[in-house]
Amino acid sequence: MQIFSPVQPCLFQSLNISVKRDDLIDTYISGNKWRKLKYVLERVKAIKKNHLVTFGGAYSNHLLATAALAARHNLKSSAFVRGEKVENEMLMLCKLFGMDLIFTARDLYKNKNSLFDNYFGKNENCFFIDEGGASNEGVKGCAEIVKELPQHYDHIFCAAGTGTTAAGLLKGINAQGLSTTLNVIPVLKGGEFIEKEIENYENDLSKLQLHTNYHFGGYAKTTPQLIHFIQNFVGETGILIDPVYTAKMFYAIYDLAQQNYFKKDAKILALHTGGLFGILGMKDKFEQFLG
Ligand SMILES: *Cc1c(COP(=O)(O)O)cnc(C)c1O
Repeated sequence: MQIFSPVQPCLFQSLNISVKRDDLIDTYISGNKWRKLKYVLERVKAIKKNHLVTFGGAYSNHLLATAALAARHNLKSSAFVRGEKVENEMLMLCKLFGMDLIFTARDLYKNKNSLFDNYFGKNENCFFIDEGGASNEGVKGCAEIVKELPQHYDHIFCAAGTGTTAAGLLKGINAQGLSTTLNVIPVLKGGEFIEKEIENYENDLSKLQLHTNYHFGGYAKTTPQLIHFIQNFVGETGILIDPVYTAKMFYAIYDLAQQNYFKKDAKILALHTGGLFGILGMKDKFEQFLG
């Protein structure tokens, strides 16, 4: 079996954990987006489509991943981008990889199926990929992460946006009959909804533990406290983390450790889901904070 990313030790504030470095899989098709698109690509090739159509916000890691994947596999790519027309580094890279961007008012953006039908319904070459790559193929790709692990862990941690990655990890844990607890950190406010999203793909939630109070104000929101944490973590460990997803997960691990959530000598694995270009969406805040 092929192993796509290393597990590395990580010592921070006297807590030893392991990090599965999915951020190292690919610079642009990063982390869990690579995992989620792996079987989507297989399916697209099997049914001989050649045009990926997807959806995302203006700083979406998924858009960049889809654009880069399409370019490498000689496919076209188009994306509905939520909101009014903007320019930023992420979208610039998407365009460079050849992605066609369709800026879409927020009320229209909600109905993804009818957008796809209106723009691409008559084009048989087009393949619909949901926002964030949420799909059965995506869950299947993420479940493989568990098979790649070199040893048993008492706890696995991941950040959640749509919950697809978490669903895959839980499926992997249950399929192998592991006693591992899957700790999920929703990055949105009101993250309880993630449980239902996971349940769409996996019935047995007994190993699932949601931690819903590490959203730092909501999706793509941050605080000086979180930026301060990122500064310390990156400086001490040499592992870059992003403010939208992975920083909230790592913060949760260290906060839970301080509350004695873990048994003594518990083996803890954090999944680094990548997405490091997300830091560019907050560069003003970082520059201000770091001086
Ligand atoms: C998209 C993304 C997530 C969220 O993954 P879901 O499967 O949607 O829950 C987590 N981390 C990073 C870095 C991401 O880019």
